[in-house]
Amino acid sequence: SKPHGSMSNSDHKPQNLLGFSREELEGLADDLGHARFRGRQVYEGIYRRRATDFPSLTNLNLRFRAELADRFRITYPQIEREFVSTDRAVRYLLRLEDENAIETVYMPEEKRITLCLSSQVGCAVDCKFCFTALLGIKRNLTAGEIVGQVLAVAQAQQIPHRARLNLVFMGMGEPLLNLPAVMRAVNILADPNALGVPLRRITISTAGIVPKIHELAGDPMRPKLAVSLNASTDEQRNAIMPLNKKYPLKHLIDACRAFTLRPREYLTFEYVMLDGLNDADADARRVVGLLKGLRAKVNLIPYNGGPELPYRPSPLQRVLGFQEVLTSRNLPAYIRISRGQDVRAACGQLSLAGIED
Ligand code: SAH
Repeated sequence: SKPHGSMSNSDHKPQNLLGFSREELEGLADDLGHARFRGRQVYEGIYRRRATDFPSLTNLNLRFRAELADRFRITYPQIEREFVSTDRAVRYLLRLEDENAIETVYMPEEKRITLCLSSQVGCAVDCKFCFTALLGIKRNLTAGEIVGQVLAVAQAQQIPHRARLNLVFMGMGEPLLNLPAVMRAVNILADPNALGVPLRRITISTAGIVPKIHELAGDPMRPKLAVSLNASTDEQRNAIMPLNKKYPLKHLIDACRAFTLRPREYLTFEYVMLDGLNDADADARRVVGLLKGLRAKVNLIPYNGGPELPYRPSPLQRVLGFQEVLTSRNLPAYIRISRGQDVRAACGQLSLAGIED
């Protein structure tokens, strides 16, 4: 189990260790002639103790530390700018090593902290109401860049290891179109010897990549799943989410029905409320019909607008009326007032605003 990359030529730029799994670091220790458990100590040093250099890995002998420093480094995505909302949410603009940029959102709550993570640079899915879509897709993030978002923000905000963290893949990108790297990152994020965020506090949100929902369902290390429903008929959904033509509602809901839930686990459906478009009582009744028999809850998200897009948010009364139709039919529904709207950190607003100022 050789880690990626060559280990012998020190004329190469040192390789970033972020994203290496425990097994790979054990293999690395082995290759360098050390006991495998030394690799586990590197793993815990990087992800649990959040070391950013090798001298601070004081449980390793000097030779191993020197060998590591010669060949490797520990580099987080660089915080280029931070935009602090009046509601205390912070939108972080992070610079990657190839000069691409992504965003991560920090949302402190009373008893927990939620981090909203990106899975790709930009997005390929092209939902008509989402600002990230305007960027197009640049590339997938690596597992190291995904884990690095958490470590960079944890360092900046001095989040203690013990803090109650929630991680949601609801930033830029479609996580199910980068599933290998996302799951590789989740394995590190959820490992008690690494970042230690329980799987039940990690959520992957998808626009509805049906075959990948089936694939995720079979993964014992899968986090929770949220599905961006956003419409009550195929016609409506085709118009605002073109991927629905490839993966229509019936197939999407079938995949959700096949997604075996753990005890007390719910599937979450997100529904962006667009004025006059998908917010009628008849839509709400159709949503109830679609989700019948599923252990589901619905998050109603007021649309966050901007001059580039033609939509309007549903009036609050309409959101409340829609919610009432769902809850009165025993479908739990919550209104999710987006945080960080004043700094373009809210749902659907991540579009690298401010990158060139
Ligand atoms: N691509 C994944 C992850 C992004 S999650 C997905 O689609 O689920 C982003 C969430 O914000 C999605 O539920 C999406 O429906 C919602 N969203 C997108 N644009 C929005 C906007 N302008 N206002 C409010 N919510 C929006």
